[in-house]
Amino acid sequence: MAIWKSVESTKLFMGKLTHSGDLIEEITDVCRRESIRIGWIEALGAVQKARLGYYNQEIRKYQFIDLDHPLEITKLVGNISLRDGEPIVHAHITLADQEGNAYGGHLVPGTIIFACEFIIQAFEGPVFERAFDEETGLPLWAMEE
Ligand code: ZN
Repeated sequence: MAIWKSVESTKLFMGKLTHSGDLIEEITDVCRRESIRIGWIEALGAVQKARLGYYNQEIRKYQFIDLDHPLEITKLVGNISLRDGEPIVHAHITLADQEGNAYGGHLVPGTIIFACEFIIQAFEGPVFERAFDEETGLPLWAMEE
């Protein structure tokens, strides 16, 4: 059964990330510094190289795809919630190469920024805390109905 909660929009943050920084770590750092507990992020730009995760549902483990060349970020989308009381960013990304071929997946450390512009929408509301989910093997939101 689907479970959801109502949240309220508070602040919007708009900015650019550091050249040669690690993409997921830079976003998480902005959330930490702004004390964002729940939110939404979108971003675009380019990366020097990328590392993407693909969750293998059968063996319940992430597999990784390494793309060691420059790519455009055509879309990064993600949410912000808490894990062990700290902000955690869950983001997926679509990247394009010089021929317009697209790659996509779960964003993990190892994706290095060339340039990146972001918007983070912060919300106020109930705590969305991640915890181990038996059914999927993933750290999903532990919410009461
Ligand atoms: Zn994911």
